Amino acid sequence: MSNRECPSCAMEVDKSAETCPICGYEFPKQNKGVIIMAWVMIILAILWLVF
Ligand SMILES: [Zn+2]
Repeated sequence: MSNRECPSCAMEVDKSAETCPICGYEFPKQNKGVIIMAWVMIILAILWLVF
């Protein structure tokens, strides 16, 4: 079992919880692979436009 701290109310909530059960804070989903892919595509598009 591993918990994480809610940035809104600073309470320990379940790591798998998508929203804080205490204050209703919505945790951002961490799809790092998707974010990296998006950045690579953006950088490639900029490079293609510049050159
Ligand atoms: Zn909270």
